[in-house]
Amino acid sequence: MPIINRIAEFHDDMVAWRRDIHAHPETAFEEVRTAKVVAEKLESFGIEVHRGLAKTGVVGVLKAGTGSRAIGLRADMDALDIEERNGFDYRSRHEGKMHACGHDGHTTMLLGAARHLAETRNFDGTVYFIFQPAEENVAGGRVMVEEGLFERFPVEGVYGLHNMPGTEVGQIVVRGGPMMASADMFELVIRGVGGHGAFPHKTTDPVVVAAEIVNAWQTIVSRVTDPLESAVVSVTQIHGGHATNVIPDTVTLSGTTRAFLPEIQDLIEERMRRIAEGISAAHGASCEFTYDRRYPPVINPERETELAAAAAARVVGPENVRDDVPPVMGAEDFAWMLKARPGNYAWLGNGKDGEVGGCAVHNPNYDFNDEILTIGASYWVELVQTVLAPAGG
Ligand code: ZN
Repeated sequence: MPIINRIAEFHDDMVAWRRDIHAHPETAFEEVRTAKVVAEKLESFGIEVHRGLAKTGVVGVLKAGTGSRAIGLRADMDALDIEERNGFDYRSRHEGKMHACGHDGHTTMLLGAARHLAETRNFDGTVYFIFQPAEENVAGGRVMVEEGLFERFPVEGVYGLHNMPGTEVGQIVVRGGPMMASADMFELVIRGVGGHGAFPHKTTDPVVVAAEIVNAWQTIVSRVTDPLESAVVSVTQIHGGHATNVIPDTVTLSGTTRAFLPEIQDLIEERMRRIAEGISAAHGASCEFTYDRRYPPVINPERETELAAAAAARVVGPENVRDDVPPVMGAEDFAWMLKARPGNYAWLGNGKDGEVGGCAVHNPNYDFNDEILTIGASYWVELVQTVLAPAGG
């Protein structure tokens, strides 16, 4: 596999960086130590550093040649609220927090690429190394975009890379179109009139209304959405009542919806509201529906996907660049960057099921596979050299 030789030479350094970050996990907007490590490393490579975007975000700027074109490469730095169950010596030293999604590895691979690109400068233009906080749950990437990331650092394309357990080491998944779903959150408060459980005729029972709504919402997927499109409506919480013989005044339903197309998101929101209001009204209850668009879908445009696939092929060979892996209904904060600029989001094989690196993410036994650090760093370098190819190079 044509891993860039110089990157292979400093594999041990990258393993040490990765394990240091792994041992010191920090969650959303509190990545103070991690950001400091990143900024200091970038500076030691001779890269200009900007701190404090979206609180703990860091952007490194590296220019070569005279070209005005620019590319953005993004890594996420945050960990999860999980108690680590791994026993190795670099296990989390922060109780209840853990790098269980491999963002320690993503940060390290981008640092490795930065080091190599700063040494070689075999490109023409500007590379922005974007280290974002708070990928999990609270959309730190969105905050960076809203704080003017791409006005300050005007890229023509932005690229993301995430490890993928279950996919073989040495494979990179690059596919056009939808890759990950939108993730919206909803809450419905149904207001009836409570009373004695033995006298339902003197109440407006919100529990019965809630039950009808939960079932009716499922028709949005089965009867409203085009069968050839994808949608998920999951009610994940039902709260109401406190005694076995009392009908409550209110019941609250909440949960999440997923889709790949913005028009399906619109459809889901509109139909959920209509069904909730219609069923509530039919029973003489009232309701309040809130729908929060948390993450848009990750949709890879064609042109940048071809560039990413070409760069991946240079590292792992065209036979190991896979476009046959189906999209997933999980969500990814990088979608906010892809909404603002074209680009590509790819998956890097972390190891097959049952082998090293095969453990699923967000699991207390997960660990990023150090074997793929050089593959990911080489991919970043090849991508820069592909997109910002020097004239005659
Ligand atoms: Zn992740």
